[in-house]
Amino acid sequence: MSQYWSDIVHHLTPYVPGEQPKLQNLVKLNTNENPYGPSPKVIAALQAEAADSLRLYPDPDSGRLKVAIADYHGLQPSQVFVGNGSDEVLAHVFQSLLKHDQPLLFPDITYSFYPVYCGLYGIQFETVPLNAQFQITVQDYMRPNGGIIFPNPNAPTGIPLPLADIERLLQANTQSVVVIDEAYVDFGTESAVSLVNQYHNLLVTHTYSKSRSLAGLRVGYAVGDAGLIEALMRVKDSFNSYPIDRFAEAGAIAAIKDEDFFQQTRQQVMASREQLVVEMTAMGFEVLPSGANFIFARHPQYSGEQLAAGLREQAVIVRHFKKPARIAEFLRITIGDDSQNQALMKALRTLLQP
Ligand SMILES: *Cc1c(COP(=O)(O)O)cnc(C)c1O
Repeated sequence: MSQYWSDIVHHLTPYVPGEQPKLQNLVKLNTNENPYGPSPKVIAALQAEAADSLRLYPDPDSGRLKVAIADYHGLQPSQVFVGNGSDEVLAHVFQSLLKHDQPLLFPDITYSFYPVYCGLYGIQFETVPLNAQFQITVQDYMRPNGGIIFPNPNAPTGIPLPLADIERLLQANTQSVVVIDEAYVDFGTESAVSLVNQYHNLLVTHTYSKSRSLAGLRVGYAVGDAGLIEALMRVKDSFNSYPIDRFAEAGAIAAIKDEDFFQQTRQQVMASREQLVVEMTAMGFEVLPSGANFIFARHPQYSGEQLAAGLREQAVIVRHFKKPARIAEFLRITIGDDSQNQALMKALRTLLQP
């Protein structure tokens, strides 16, 4: 049937998301979801939204949500763009701001959706190797380019980059857009949102999927100069007028207003992460420093493949990337709640028993 396909479809290499298993009772530590459910205020807002008004289209501009996000960050609503998950926001960013004559730059080890968007939109890119400690070195990006994008903290390493390094990059790189994908920033990494008023070529993306426990609601956003936001709006309004449905807008507003719940759950995740790092290090794992809600770890005596398969046999699923070779021995493990983390440790002890 593929003779009916558009030419571009033959050449796409789609992104492969982490598995969403149908089986119950698995300890699911493979897609960096939050182990704690969303705020009860979010649930109440969603219930209130289940009403006759669903027959009406939502606000195409998501105005109330933009105001809530702008207030939260101390910005203007004209500096905010919202989308159906930050993946959709990123797709529009690639198409509207990162396609130029010079190649786009991103790390060789990073979020694997970036090369997929390049394939979809025909964007030339070059990857920049992480250093021997798996860190981003900003000097390596100081060369002619059509744009720069990386997550902070980086994925799947979890390693945070200090804000001073991002500012150094922005001072050196003024001719193209620099996008910082802050999907995990709330778990202990410094945010670059504080720099958007000063650097007009800086765009920062956030998601409600991780620190706000709303992966199922699909809300993400970008903040930056109003001129960059306008480019995103032009693409969005040429694609889908209503990416944020009524539930998504109401739930996201309620989430951003419940600061106590947000603080409590993110602190809990960070405390659990520190505890897991100590325990896994004691078992002989090398754990990269993490500013995210996951850790990236390898064991000198066991292959990544062996460990991932062994955990799976014990109903614990984690993410293992076979490629690139430099990270093939690592496991990416999402921080769970106490009982999930205990199940992980128990399964690891069983595997590592002499
Ligand atoms: C999870 C993730 C996203 C996308 O999240 P959405 O669920 O689409 O909002 C974007 N970038 C990185 C690095 C991520 O890990």
